[in-house]
Amino acid sequence: MKYVSTRGNAPALNFEDVILTGLAADGGLYVPETLPQFSQEEIASWAGLDYEALAFKVMWPFVEGELTQTELETLIAASYKNFRHKAIAPLVQTGANEWVLELFHGPTLAFKDFALQFLGHLLDLVLKKRQQKVVILGATSGDTGSAAIEGCRECENVDIFILHPHQKVSDVQRRQMTTVLEDNVHNIAVKGNFDDCQNIVKRSFADQGFLPEGRQLVAVNSINWARIMAQIVYYFYAALSLGGPHRKVSFSVPTGNFGDIFAGYLAKQMGLPIERLIIATNSNDILHRCLSANDHSRQALQHSLSPSMDIMVSSNFERLLFDLYARDGASIQKLMTDFQQGAMHLSDEALSKARALFASSRVDDEQTKACIAKVYAESEYLLDPHSAIGLLAARENKALCGDGPVVCLATAHPAKFPDAIVAAGVEEAVNLPVHMQDLAEREERCSVLENEARAIQQFICTNLNT
Ligand SMILES: *Cc1c(COP(=O)(O)O)cnc(C)c1O
Repeated sequence: MKYVSTRGNAPALNFEDVILTGLAADGGLYVPETLPQFSQEEIASWAGLDYEALAFKVMWPFVEGELTQTELETLIAASYKNFRHKAIAPLVQTGANEWVLELFHGPTLAFKDFALQFLGHLLDLVLKKRQQKVVILGATSGDTGSAAIEGCRECENVDIFILHPHQKVSDVQRRQMTTVLEDNVHNIAVKGNFDDCQNIVKRSFADQGFLPEGRQLVAVNSINWARIMAQIVYYFYAALSLGGPHRKVSFSVPTGNFGDIFAGYLAKQMGLPIERLIIATNSNDILHRCLSANDHSRQALQHSLSPSMDIMVSSNFERLLFDLYARDGASIQKLMTDFQQGAMHLSDEALSKARALFASSRVDDEQTKACIAKVYAESEYLLDPHSAIGLLAARENKALCGDGPVVCLATAHPAKFPDAIVAAGVEEAVNLPVHMQDLAEREERCSVLENEARAIQQFICTNLNT
């Protein structure tokens, strides 16, 4: 399968090259040239498969011709073996026709493990075959960094460098990263904020001349296609568990960079009967404004109780736009240029296509706390703040979901965000799961560096291990 850029002006690549490339050369994002299509009969025949077996069915067409069946099976088995629930992605009922899909049973307690466990093992396999070594460089405000580090700690051909803003991530989030002591894992606390970290990463990707001969940078943020691909699976898994494909299911997704919900959109395009996809945003609401008022303009970042969704611009939205504009790269190029200058406006046609597929809600901190408290009072079920935003958005948009079930994606374990739980007034103590209860006592390793690209690039070069 070939992959093409959303801006229509970069070479088509195969799967292996796509996962080793960040942005396309024209600034676009890579998407499959054509999507695999599954018939209703085929999907129905998957009922009862366990998560790993289903993952194979869904992902195989994307990698066929580049990986062998055994390679993909081995990758999937390795990626989900460290999840602490036998179902991998269990469903919990919280209301009539309302379900929570728990995506937080992976090693770092957030849904990002689904994709980053897989990406780590995939990189290891591909790099071994190519006898190539790479450097992963990423910036994190919390969840991505720890999930990426967990995913790559055993990769023999990868050095991973993760930048976080010094003293600006929570204790649990920092320790989840800095207590991983493998030689190829390098945590850098930058004396600056998250934007400073991201700028250093962007500059380094744009000019990789500082790296030794033969090395290249690889991105692990959600512009990496393999992450999206691995996330398609749980939409099929949830729908099949609730009577799909014979029944249409809706999904409500707490959204930041539009990666997770874009995977749901792809599941629908591949044949899964989905009634509605609900975009749930916090007060950083660019996607909600775009869908409800055709206002896709940049606004100042707001810090919220759901920090993993504190994002001004949702980079994967470009992948949806590409489809809404009949895959015309020139139109996307123009929209993105408009947006650089302040705002983009969707055509009537694109907007009505989007509104037929999606609904949206904006949920602020007060509503988030109220939702955590309400659901706890109703059924003693404790939501993390991100998941609460998804659940409230589901309830607000119920009328658009037909009479089938609505699945709310729970993207993090509540113990990752104890402050929000306390702020919501829920009395119950939120303990970390047993395997993490000694987190505060574990040895940490981290380097504090100045907010300067040159200093960090030098650090990378002197600390390469593999
Ligand atoms: C990353 C993250 C999100 C947002 O996911 P996107 O793919 O960026 O939309 C939501 N919740 C949690 C807990 C996250 O870590």
